[in-house]
Amino acid sequence: MSWEQVALEPAREPTGLGAQLEALFADQRARWPALRAGEAALAGLRTRVLHEEGTWVVAQANPGRRASTQARVEPQAIAARPCFLCPENLPPEERGLPFGELVLLPNPFPVLPRHCTVPARVHAPQRLAGRLECMLALARALGPELTVFYNGPRCGASAPDHAHFQVVAARAVPLFEQLPLQGLADERRAWESFGRRMLLAVHRDPRAARAYLEAALLALARLQPGEDEPMLNLFLLARGGRLWSVVFPRRAHRPACFSAEGAARLSVSPAALEMAGVLVVPEPEQLDRLDAAAARAIYAEVCLEAGPFARLAEELA
Ligand SMILES: [Zn+2]
Repeated sequence: MSWEQVALEPAREPTGLGAQLEALFADQRARWPALRAGEAALAGLRTRVLHEEGTWVVAQANPGRRASTQARVEPQAIAARPCFLCPENLPPEERGLPFGELVLLPNPFPVLPRHCTVPARVHAPQRLAGRLECMLALARALGPELTVFYNGPRCGASAPDHAHFQVVAARAVPLFEQLPLQGLADERRAWESFGRRMLLAVHRDPRAARAYLEAALLALARLQPGEDEPMLNLFLLARGGRLWSVVFPRRAHRPACFSAEGAARLSVSPAALEMAGVLVVPEPEQLDRLDAAAARAIYAEVCLEAGPFARLAEELA
């Protein structure tokens, strides 16, 4: 298949991208058994809510995510497999919604409702540089019900060779309910919660949001010289005429428990959704071992350390 065959015509009615996406999901559900099965499985997943000092995250046993969580992302492994985000390798039933250079594709292995993979039409490495404008435009077009997020090539992207974003229902992301951003207009602050360190910003002007995120990328790059891109996860949400952004600066891809043996093993591979409070455990028997202390330890291990984070936050304030 080609993108011309996969991507539907953009709707002519100005109903908004969110409404078009609802229609796409309804249509795909009707004609694609794998998506129906994935959504049904999502509704029946076992979860645990982990609490700490007024905050909370959710651990989710989700065997459907095994391939993604355990994806090998070394260059040799990537070179040896066909790219699952190129149109010729998509399932024949899959259809998508075009948005500029991107195509929104329903994910048949969802972590949260309305989970979409949003590949670029070109097979090019996962990089934020040159795609920030596009991501901001997508967030604004999606509106308050849907959030767009980015996993760096060494921070959870299972296709580091094909540029992509993802989308999920914003109401299902635990962190958004807990952020101190409601009602703010223009604000930047560093925030720590449940062992996670993140940079929060609210902007009314999309150009200011872009300038801020570019500055954040540059400042982060100075902390990790020699890398193609600093390690990070990023969420954008357009809400009430404001753009919310959440940057998670990272120092590690996976925690040590990911490759531990026996009872010490927890196959949690933190990507953006994990950082935002949904810890996917593909092996259901590990769910009961993932308590609040284990979750905090995983977050602390993969987040940027306190010292460099404080300096970064000061630089960007
Ligand atoms: Zn590709």
